Amino acid sequence: MDSLYNGSFNISNETSQEDFRLLLKALDASISGIILTDNRLQDNPIIYCNKAFEEISGYDRNEIIGHNCRFLQKEDRDQKERSFLRDAIRDGKSCVVDIRNYKKDGTLFYNELYMSPIKDDEGKVIYFIGVQNDVTKRKKVEQELRQQQEIMEKRVAERTKSLKESEDYLNSIVQTVRESLIVLDPEFKVLSVNDHFLKTFKVTSEDTLGKLLYDLGNGQWDISALKELLESILPTNNPVEEFEVEHDFPHIGKKLMLLNAHRIELEGQYKDRILIAIEDITDRREIERRKDDFLSIASHELKTPLTTIKGLVQVMQRMVPPEVNDKFKAILDKTGVYINRLNNLIAELLDVSRIQTGNIELHKEEFDFDKTVHETVEAIQVATKSHEIQIVGNTNERIKADESHIIQVINNLLSNAIKYSPDHKAIIVYLSRVSDFAKFSITDKGMGIKLEDQKKIFDRFFRVGDIQQRFPGMGIGLYICDQIIKNHGGSLLVESETGNGSTFSFTLPLNIITA
Ligand code: ADP
Repeated sequence: MDSLYNGSFNISNETSQEDFRLLLKALDASISGIILTDNRLQDNPIIYCNKAFEEISGYDRNEIIGHNCRFLQKEDRDQKERSFLRDAIRDGKSCVVDIRNYKKDGTLFYNELYMSPIKDDEGKVIYFIGVQNDVTKRKKVEQELRQQQEIMEKRVAERTKSLKESEDYLNSIVQTVRESLIVLDPEFKVLSVNDHFLKTFKVTSEDTLGKLLYDLGNGQWDISALKELLESILPTNNPVEEFEVEHDFPHIGKKLMLLNAHRIELEGQYKDRILIAIEDITDRREIERRKDDFLSIASHELKTPLTTIKGLVQVMQRMVPPEVNDKFKAILDKTGVYINRLNNLIAELLDVSRIQTGNIELHKEEFDFDKTVHETVEAIQVATKSHEIQIVGNTNERIKADESHIIQVINNLLSNAIKYSPDHKAIIVYLSRVSDFAKFSITDKGMGIKLEDQKKIFDRFFRVGDIQQRFPGMGIGLYICDQIIKNHGGSLLVESETGNGSTFSFTLPLNIITA
């Protein structure tokens, strides 16, 4: 076979020999490895290889020529590419495979191998030409890409699974809540509703989905104040809170509904959507009304006999004969004190029902505000040994207001400051004039009130947490104070921090001053 490499084939003339040498040189100049195998010889041995093949394989020509090219696979025989190659050679066809081959030093390289038959005039395969390229780098990149793709696919599958799970989870919440939920697009068209909505309003999804909110039912939500609030949600991000709608709804009759609406956003998706939660508060409101009625009737009914008892005790106190022992007198006095306490509680309950029905009456008269504050504080201080109340500043104003109601407010704030700061002696009352307002503030260093509770302490019957055992009360004092101050055109505010005490301040406008 050397003869082929040396160009000593049986070539007839000088020109042909020259052409042949040129051809061999050209083959050696190729960067692809090239081999020729002789199919007529036993085991189809390599009869020619170019220089690039020596470089790719790491073997010398004389180690290559005469052998079947399978030696390049070393022990790695179990490759499907090998059987492609074998079949193509057997059938005298061309084929292309990427086969794992090993250099002389054992290094793996991927060989991109083109095998083509060379046939004689009768069509019999006499040689195969193999063109080979080391594509290890490409293979490595392909492999890395495949691995990356697999990782990505795995991640996508996991993410899809977790999205599906969170969607199912959200759906189950949305379908379970006992509130009606509607999602609107920015044009206020209904995108979805939950089952509770359909059941509450006795409608089908067809009646609802894709419709304009304001066209639902008989236009129950077509209320200009609500429209205005809803329309400001997207541009301002201000939610609609506790909006009451009383309406004669189709299918379900007259109901009172409470609406809360928010802009919703989910990881950057659906950012311009509005979620409306609707709660039917008809029954709750009715129960509240009955409770108020009961309190109002009960306190009225209690007031009359109590006034009689109070009068009778006073008569008894006056009629006590001098020879009666001190214990009897002390018991009678204590009875009087407890009757007074009961009287005050009932008076508070009556105040609440009067406020509820708008029957609170103010008897405004001019009085010296600072003097009234001093007298009220002194009266409390006399009865309180546990705390020291200090008054700082003054307003120097005479105001026109319902003095007894203002005293009631001051008393309430003072007794709260004492009650809710059992371990801190100091209470400070500040008096000042701020612009055209008289200002009263009271600071204690007691238990304080957490922010979320501060919003509710002016509500009727609200008491913070679980304090009933330690601090008995009804949770109506601040409600009454707030209403009284509002009725005078002022405002009552709280500033507080849990564990760091509270400051309650009220203002009264001086435009009612006649001094
Ligand atoms: P009551 O004292 O009868 O509960 P109020 O309406 O006067 O009713 O007060 C409502 C709630 O506000 C109280 O239950 C208490 O939890 C809280 N509170 C009021 N004043 C203070 C204060 N000075 N310090 C801490 N908590 C207070």
